Amino acid sequence: MITSSAPTSLSLPPQVEPSIQIRNLNFHYGEGDLFKQVLFDINLEIYSGQIVILTGPSGSGKTTLLTLIGALRTIQDGSLQILGQELKGLAPKKLVQIRKNIGFIFQAHNLFYSLTARQNVMMSTDLYPNSGSVTPKNKAADILAQLGLADRVDYKPHALSGGQKQRVAIARALVNRPNLILADEPTAALDKKSGRDVVTLMQKMAREEGITILMVTHDNRILDVADRIINLVDGNLESDNIINDFSASHDGSGVDSRTFML
Ligand code: ADP
Ligand code: MG
Repeated sequence: MITSSAPTSLSLPPQVEPSIQIRNLNFHYGEGDLFKQVLFDINLEIYSGQIVILTGPSGSGKTTLLTLIGALRTIQDGSLQILGQELKGLAPKKLVQIRKNIGFIFQAHNLFYSLTARQNVMMSTDLYPNSGSVTPKNKAADILAQLGLADRVDYKPHALSGGQKQRVAIARALVNRPNLILADEPTAALDKKSGRDVVTLMQKMAREEGITILMVTHDNRILDVADRIINLVDGNLESDNIINDFSASHDGSGVDSRTFML
């Protein structure tokens, strides 16, 4: 039994493997005259069930970092482990496997315009057919309903607003209950209520299913869902603020809202 009331330290993480573990990560675009380093010696650990918000000025490297974590770019220097698997040097086939555990919500929503909202969401359930007794059709309709689109299930994207299209893309990313969700400004195109619905659903998934969420956002309206806010400036991790003490917020005994800077 633990009787000490010593403050939790970032050097004493929960006794589980981190979902994301980054060590001395550097990244550059281009070569020769075009060489441009955009990430500098990034070190970061993110644990299962954490909601981490990544902020930083435009051009600071947020999207680059997210695409590296999502196994969408080749690791050049340093180490990056996702769900216990090192990505550096991994064969393309293995990278595809890793991506199946990740739900991506990027700014460009890339919906299929010839398909309905439900069919767009089902595109991802088709990739992962193991859905128990619930049919992909019902699963897709259910997640769309949770995102406030119950009456838009059979609409095609051209008949949906920007915010509704974004929510279809979000439903597609969430429908398979991935282990990790990477989101790049997921609420930017949404009104206040829709933005709230989206983050509330993400929060529920993180709390109830231990899904890890890393989200780039400048949306002040949703910062309160974060367990942790990290800030990237000119490719360097400048600060790391724990908002809700991780263990306290996960054992139901109340939230300790100490905030500290590294
Ligand atoms: P953020 O998402 O924080 O706005 P990015 O990761 O998109 O930052 O970009 C970081 C830096 O890398 C910027 O200076 C950007 O111009 C540059 N950059 C991004 N993508 C590329 C690319 N494909 N080729 C060359 N430079 C790029
Ligand atoms: Mg970006």
